[in-house]
Amino acid sequence: MTLGSDVSRLTTTAASAAAKGLSIVVPLYNEAAGLALLHERLIGLARTLKARYGLACEVVYVDDGSADNTLVIARTLAADALDVQVVSLSRNFGKEAALMAGLDHARLGAILFMDGDGQHPPDMVEKLVSHWVDDGYDVVYTAKAHRDNESFLRRQAVHGFYALINWGARQKIPEDAGDFRLLSPRAAAALRQLPERNRFFKGLSNWIGFRQIRVDYEPAPRAHGVTTFSPGRLIGLSIEGLTSFSVAPLRFASLLGVLLALTAFIFGLTILWEVWTTGKQVPGYPSLMIGLMTIGGVQLIMIGIVGEYIGKILSELKARPIYFVAEHSEKRADGETTAS
Ligand code: UDP
Ligand code: MG
Repeated sequence: MTLGSDVSRLTTTAASAAAKGLSIVVPLYNEAAGLALLHERLIGLARTLKARYGLACEVVYVDDGSADNTLVIARTLAADALDVQVVSLSRNFGKEAALMAGLDHARLGAILFMDGDGQHPPDMVEKLVSHWVDDGYDVVYTAKAHRDNESFLRRQAVHGFYALINWGARQKIPEDAGDFRLLSPRAAAALRQLPERNRFFKGLSNWIGFRQIRVDYEPAPRAHGVTTFSPGRLIGLSIEGLTSFSVAPLRFASLLGVLLALTAFIFGLTILWEVWTTGKQVPGYPSLMIGLMTIGGVQLIMIGIVGEYIGKILSELKARPIYFVAEHSEKRADGETTAS
């Protein structure tokens, strides 16, 4: 038995892997308004890819428990030039779970993750595919070219998040990288093999290694509706990403503990020194309170951090499925239809 995993047999050359095709995974949460248009654009894209690379395409729409009629519309979409799968989850499980469901259902070799709100321009896909087929890259990820339209505070928060998650990491997650990315068959296979339940795709698809390349792009404005990621949810997601991906916060906690203990020790020595040399009583109340509150506060924060990790361990241990599929239908471009 080996403890590693050999995914190399999945692709010898990028060109031969391309013969199998590309599965486009699109998570959908209340995207009814723009779905038909997106599908039109994907059909156009599939035609181009077929003509230029001989690449077969399918799209896997994952309805993540939408409250509007996203699912109804998704079911009506035509398998024109590309196969269409519609996977409907039993409730809203969140984007990462929806991506996982798409990854599990994708049948063709390579995977492209793309948002369903039009922010990830289909026009760019050709370029991503070219990096894979022509240049042999395994992970083609996109990153926001700039964040000029975001607030200063948000940019600093993002910066801090990546500084922390990458602290001491061997494989750094590139800042600004998004979920819009293409994975070669072997990279997709590697990603499928990761057993954890708490998933942070950006981090994982970077962690697996292989040949990676960055492509800058300008995200389009949302075609309709508003983002589902409020600042509160983003903070939650950051904690999720951090604790499921890195032990940096724990290391930070230990380091801070050592630092505080050291400060206290030195402080104690200076007090002793003062008493010995001057003989005066040290007036203590304010400094005592400050010390007490600092230590108390820091301890609570650290217990919280440790608690986050224990929570992670609990949810990994329960080993619940990441999602439930309530319905799955499939239309082939050659006319066959199945539903379950
Ligand atoms: N999404 C999802 N489940 C959720 C929230 C979002 O599948 O619980 C999908 C959503 O339909 C979209 C993508 O994830 O296709 C990105 O969502 P959104 O545009 O709200 O995020 P942002 O672009 O602001 O990061
Ligand atoms: Mg969006």
